[in-house]
Amino acid sequence: MGSKAPIHVLLVSFPGQGHINPLLRLGKCLAAKGLFVTFVTTEDAGKDMTASNNITHKSVTPVGDGFLKFEFFDECLKPNDPIKKSPSTLTPHVELVGKKFISQMIKQHEATNIPISCIINNPFYPWVVDVASDHGIPSALLWIQSTAVFSAYYHYFHKLIPFPSNTEPYIDVQLPSILLKYNEIPDFLHPSSPFPFFGTLILEQFKNLSKPFCVLVDTFDELEHDSIKNLSKYIPIRSIGPLFKIDTKTNISGNFFMPDDCIIGWLNSRPLASVVYISFGSIVHLPQKQVDEIAYGLVNSKVSFLWVLKPPHKHLELQPHFLPNGFIEETSNKGKVVQWSPQEQVLAHPSVACFLTHCGWNSSTEALTLGVPVLTFPAWGDQVTNTKFLVDVLGIGVRLGYSQAENKMVTRDEVKKCLLEATIGSKAEELKRNALRWKKAAEAAVADGGSSERNLNAFLEDIKKLAHN
Ligand code: UDP
Repeated sequence: MGSKAPIHVLLVSFPGQGHINPLLRLGKCLAAKGLFVTFVTTEDAGKDMTASNNITHKSVTPVGDGFLKFEFFDECLKPNDPIKKSPSTLTPHVELVGKKFISQMIKQHEATNIPISCIINNPFYPWVVDVASDHGIPSALLWIQSTAVFSAYYHYFHKLIPFPSNTEPYIDVQLPSILLKYNEIPDFLHPSSPFPFFGTLILEQFKNLSKPFCVLVDTFDELEHDSIKNLSKYIPIRSIGPLFKIDTKTNISGNFFMPDDCIIGWLNSRPLASVVYISFGSIVHLPQKQVDEIAYGLVNSKVSFLWVLKPPHKHLELQPHFLPNGFIEETSNKGKVVQWSPQEQVLAHPSVACFLTHCGWNSSTEALTLGVPVLTFPAWGDQVTNTKFLVDVLGIGVRLGYSQAENKMVTRDEVKKCLLEATIGSKAEELKRNALRWKKAAEAAVADGGSSERNLNAFLEDIKKLAHN
């Protein structure tokens, strides 16, 4: 480090892949711009991250003009501890342990030349904001879903508009920027959600929204102009994405798994715009029967495909999927099934035609930013709202699956029909044209002078001012 110590920013992430990826991308951007960034998550996630990437606990890596360091905190649980089995027991436990750890980190750094000047969290760890304010340290939130989804939670929490309830479960929700049907709102907010715990957890972040000095969103102004403008009336919101698109000239990644190394070579051997990429993100686990229908739909449509069929999440007691007898042999000249992919590289590959996705916000932004049309297959939460957005607002998607709350099976015939619609003919061409428009807009947003670039620089100036006060 040079003579003048850099400003130290602490990033604290919930240990999900879809949470770590965007916060780490932000961390790399801030480091590249000269800050000292410490990225913290649980030791459990840290083990997977260090096993699959060239990172280690506590080592400091130069990134651009600054530095990036990882620290992992011990959750103080035995491998088979029953607390781990349910988010409703794990969450309060990690809050206790995490609060103590972050407080200690703050104290340890107070007397050094890199005291912590700012703390940034993502939404499933709402308690981080409290630790920051208890220590008088400014904090910011990185919202890792869309602004429209933020707006839904905000309006729900403040009771600004009617939402579906037990007595009126099927009413529409009129957000300022978009009308959502009862089954298009983030479904953790619906009274019939099978996962109400996550709705409650996310709403915790809205209870203390006055504490962060700024809410950063991994989106860009051109994509969600109306939602951003409307929310700006209530909160200091800055769109700084797509973070994935900002080149920090480092290949540091927080992937939990090593991708199968044959994938890019295989894609190189396929014709241009011919492959359907299929992935349901890091957590969603489809019913076996649905996997069978997708498999037969692929065989019958005769499209080429790359399918990520990952083992079930390690903390969920689920059975691994199996493919129909003879599927691998029958599709070996056209398809490939893998356990994990380097998704950014896959979506950027010219052989990829479209993406059958569960519509997590990271997957959604990665697709549209790389100009790839989508077939939507949401499972829960914001994925159902993202589906609406991708299909009806952005014009880059064909609707295929239903949320798990709707409990509907998509048949092999529907899979075949939609696969063909998204890959061949005039609809496919229209989707591709729209996707390429969004790709251009995303590139412009993060380029010099673009909306996200300006917002990120303004955030950096805020941090500098606060650090010097
Ligand atoms: N991802 C990946 N390889 C895969 C599947 C997913 O690299 O085979 C990455 C993907 O690029 C994205 C993240 O994992 O950044 C998943 O986040 P998303 O919000 O899409 O879904 P979640 O896993 O949170 O449901």
